[in-house]
Parts: sequence; structure tokens; C-alpha cells
Amino acid sequence: MSSVLGSRRYLTNFDVHRLPHLFTDVIVIGSGIAGLRAALAAAESADVLVVTKSEAAQSATNVAQGGIAAVMQAPDRFEDHARDTLTVSEGLGDERVIQRVVREAPEHIRELQEWGAQFDVAGDHLARGREGGHSAARVVHAHGDATGREIIRVLLERARAHPRIRIFERCFSIDLLTDDGRVVGVVTHHQKYGHQMFWATTTILATGGAGRAFRETTNPPVATGDGLAMAFRAGALLRDLEFVQFHPTTLYIAGAARALISEAVRGEGARLVHRDGRRFMDAYDPRGELAPRDIVSRAINAELKNRNVSHVYLDVRHLPSGTFAKRFPTIDRLCREFDIHPERDLIPVRPSAHYTVGGVVTNPDGDTSLPGLLAAGEVASTGLHGANRLASNSLLEGLVFGRRAGLVAGRRAAERGRIDHPPALSHLLPQSPRTALDVHDVLHSLQSVMSRNAGIERSADRLGETVEIIEFWSRYVMDKVFDMPEQWETQNLLTIALCIATGAATRCESRGVHFRVDFPTRDDEHWRVHVDLRRADHGIQVATSPRAAGEEDPPGDDTGM
Ligand SMILES: Cc1cc2nc3c(=O)[nH]c(=O)nc-3n(C[C@H](O)[C@H](O)[C@H](O)COP(=O)(O)OP(=O)(O)OC[C@H]3O[C@@H](n4cnc5c(N)ncnc54)[C@H](O)[C@@H]3O)c2cc1C
Repeated sequence: MSSVLGSRRYLTNFDVHRLPHLFTDVIVIGSGIAGLRAALAAAESADVLVVTKSEAAQSATNVAQGGIAAVMQAPDRFEDHARDTLTVSEGLGDERVIQRVVREAPEHIRELQEWGAQFDVAGDHLARGREGGHSAARVVHAHGDATGREIIRVLLERARAHPRIRIFERCFSIDLLTDDGRVVGVVTHHQKYGHQMFWATTTILATGGAGRAFRETTNPPVATGDGLAMAFRAGALLRDLEFVQFHPTTLYIAGAARALISEAVRGEGARLVHRDGRRFMDAYDPRGELAPRDIVSRAINAELKNRNVSHVYLDVRHLPSGTFAKRFPTIDRLCREFDIHPERDLIPVRPSAHYTVGGVVTNPDGDTSLPGLLAAGEVASTGLHGANRLASNSLLEGLVFGRRAGLVAGRRAAERGRIDHPPALSHLLPQSPRTALDVHDVLHSLQSVMSRNAGIERSADRLGETVEIIEFWSRYVMDKVFDMPEQWETQNLLTIALCIATGAATRCESRGVHFRVDFPTRDDEHWRVHVDLRRADHGIQVATSPRAAGEEDPPGDDTGM
């Protein structure tokens, strides 16, 4: 294991006596659905500072297309949504968490509507799409395929107008500050104001996932796993990072970004075909194109290998004229930008990294293992997804756990009072004598290695090679003190890529989105457990823990789990 990665507590040098300070009740890192919902909840009883590294609207949430899963009317039932979620989680989902999230879903949709969200309607009811793994059409959407943008519009408008919320944009959170094991704030870097220290009673991590660890991803540039890596450095418990969901259908145009072609497109009847129009999904799963994502991704991967081609196609030409453009205006526009007319042409697609299923372990209140730190959204491991995420459950997770974490943080801040003077913290890492690598180049090489060796299919050999090469790069990248966000992002991605590869090498079975060619079946006898990771001086300390942490009594206060 890489000792340099394990021994690195802070990425930046700082001295509390030399930097500007700001004191508040609650800090929220991230302005996606989880962060904004948390901020609005916390602001009911506390002053809140939202720190976000780009413009506030930049997030995975903003590009979410398909929608939010919620049981909005009979004959659909909570039990069915819960069962579908549990089935896809492949034995690692926490049933109590799943039941709670599913049952809270409708009130979150109605709340967003009250706040002005314009979800699509069909007659007297909300329109609902069907997606893979769902036994009913229950995915609520907005403007066809721009659900995330609509939600962010509403949440951001509300947060900006709130007297107790301040949003600092272009403010990069570098590390969580800890004093005697308790998280007391964050050290940041602002484009204009440089390094600053923000102090708060409670910090909520809502930084999203780490899709950028892979060469091909649907994730926006901000998804560099910063929150996961910050939590890791601060000593928090991370879980099940080997579970990375690949989305089967992203637009394949060499040189262009891997834009998502929503699962809802298959829900509307799109077929997966080869160039000659031949369908292939039925040979892999009786649910055909509507099988869960991991199955469809692996099926496409197998077809790419067998036929030695770079992509397959989505075929929507049989849908009634005008349907596609009306239901999926964003995707239709995107295709046309590349001269692909979906009514006439096949849409070239291949799988890309999409969702970080594991994350920072939380209890039902959002508490992490570190006192003073809560987490919500994609960065967290709440127990909802287990070994795989059911389509359209993650926006929902962000709403449910964002609100919960915000309420808990606001209440605790009000009870505890504000930190009024900074603890005497400093960090000074001397200049490293080791040679410098081109960080940009390391990032690209890392993304290639991860896609090749830790992607849809994995094996002990390739994962071992991946761990070795990441450790090698880490010796030359993790020993430096950088001063630019892109460089910190690369350090964070190296850290999280090593966690993903280590977790994947540890789990000697195939389950959910984790597929080992050398252990191709699910092994409940040995592996119906979580893979837990924590920073240690020698690198990463790996342990397994029984499934469904939520079945144990949650701590219920902020003393850490
Ligand atoms: C293309 C696409 C389509 C999707 N479609 C759907 C869908 O239809 N339904 C569904 O349920 N899910 C969907 N998902 C998944 C879903 O969008 C995400 O899981 C969810 O939005 C995550 O929300 P979040 O608030 O946790 O994180 P994000 O929305 O990613 O927000 C993270 C925030 O943290 C900030 N941040 C990160 N690092 C730092 C740092 N160091 N300092 C300061 N700020 C930082 C970012 O700038 C950003 O504001 C989709 C994802 C993608 C990529």
C-alpha cells in the first residue's frame, strides 16, 4: 500500500494565524440536490454557508434527465417500489432505509411542486416514465428529459432568496478541518480570495460522486470525488466503493463528451441493435432492453468484444412520428447537433461510468463516523442502493437525506452554539525532493487505466496492476503541495481510484455492478458483507462488516458512529 497516500492528512499547507476566517453554524459543501435541500432545511434554525467549487448550477443534478422515482398513485404501491429497490441492491440494501425513502418520496415531489417545480403532466396526473428495474411507470420528470435542471432552478432560487443562506461560488473545498477528531470546518481556495478557513458546528458533505476517475463518463467535470477523498483523509469510514454503476447508453461520437441517452428512452420502447438492425438483449435477459443497468452494460460490453466493434445503437425509428422529439427534447437536440436524426438514423451508444454507489458511511440522520460531519447524496453510503442503484432513486436519495441531514445539522448548531474562535491548527508539509510528474498526464493515464482495468469487467490480475500503478503515481503526486484546483482534483481522484481498485480486488465475487471475470457468481456465504475502507499510515485499511448497518442501533447524536 502507498504510505504516502495513507500518511497525507491535508493537501494544502495552512496556518490558522495567517488566513482569513469566517464563522457560521452549518457549512454545506456542494450545491447539487443534496446540498441545496440540506441548506434549506438547516436554514430553518441556523445560518448556513454553501461552498461550491464552480458556478452553483454546475452539478450532476443539473444534467439528470430521466427523473425521480416516486409512487404517486394507485395501482403502484410503496411495497413495489421498495421491492424493486431491494431486488436491484442484490442483498446489500438496507430494507429499513429503503422503506423510509420510498414512503417519503411523494411528499418531496409535492413540496417541489409547491416551490414551483413544473413536472410534466398527463391529464389530471403527473406523467410517469418507466425505467429499467422498475415494475411500474413511476418516474416523475420535467420538460421531458430536463428534470435535474428544473429541480436545481427551483432549489437554487429558493436558497438564494433565503436570508440565512449564503452561497460562495468558485470556492474549492480542499480539506475538512479536524480538531481532536471532530470536524470543525473546512479550508478552501477561492479564485479571487485565495485560501480561507470556514468554521462551523456542523459540516455537511454533499459533493457528489467520482465518475471522473474513468475515461468515459456521463459525469460533469465537477465529479472528481473530492468529498470522498476529503472524508478519507480526515479519517471517515468509506464503504463499498467497488460498486461503480456504468450507464449502458451514452452517445458514442469519438472526440465528443459521453452524453447520456436516458434509460427512459428504452422505457419508451427504444431497442438496442447492431448496425444491421439485429436486436441482442433477449439473449442476455428476459426483460430485454429493460433489464437493470449492470446487465445491459455487460451485455453491450460482450457484444462489443464478440463483434470487435466500438459501439452498438439505439433504435427509435419505430416510435410514432414526433414522439421522440416531444418526449426527449434535450436528447433529440443533442443528436441533431451531430447530424443524427433519431426518427431516421440509429443512435450510436456505448456504456460509461455513471454513478458512485458506495461512499461515506452514514446512519439514517446522515451522521458519518466523524463527529461534526454529516453526508448526503451521491457522496454518502446510506444503505439505499446496496450493490446497485435503481434508476431514478438518486435524486430521491438527495432530497430525503439532504433534508434530514439539514434538519439535524440546524438543530445541533442551535443547541451547541457557534465556534467563536479557531482552534490553533496548522499544517506544513516540506517541499518534496522527488521529481515532479505532469499532473495532467497522470490524470489522463489514471482515467484510461481505470476504464480498462476497473470498469465493467474486473479480474485479480488487472486490479493488482491498477493498484500498483496508482501507488507509483501517488509517490510522485501525493507528496507535493499544489495550489490549483485541477491538481487537488487529481490528488483526490488518485485517492479514490485506489479505494475503488482496492475494494474491487477485495470483493472476490460478482454482485450488483461489480463483475469479476475470475469470480463470475454471487457468493452469499462469504461476501454478503460490506467492504469498509479507512485511511491508515500504511495506506488503506480494509475490513468487511455485516450488511445493513442500519439494522444496528444508529448513534442518534453527533458523537460519530
Ligand atoms: C447525466 C446524468 C443523468 C442522471 N440522471 C438521473 C436521473 O434521471 N434520476 C436520478 O435519480 N439520478 C440521475 N443521475 C444521478 C444523479 O443526478 C446524481 O446522483 C445526483 O444528482 C447527485 O446529487 P448530489 O447533490 O449528491 O451531487 P451533485 O449534484 O453532483 O452536486 C455536487 C456538488 O458538489 C460540488 N463540489 C464537488 N467537489 C467540491 C469541492 N471540492 N468544493 C466545493 N464544492 C464541490 C459540485 O460543484 C456540485 O455543486 C444522473 C447523473 C448524470 C451524470
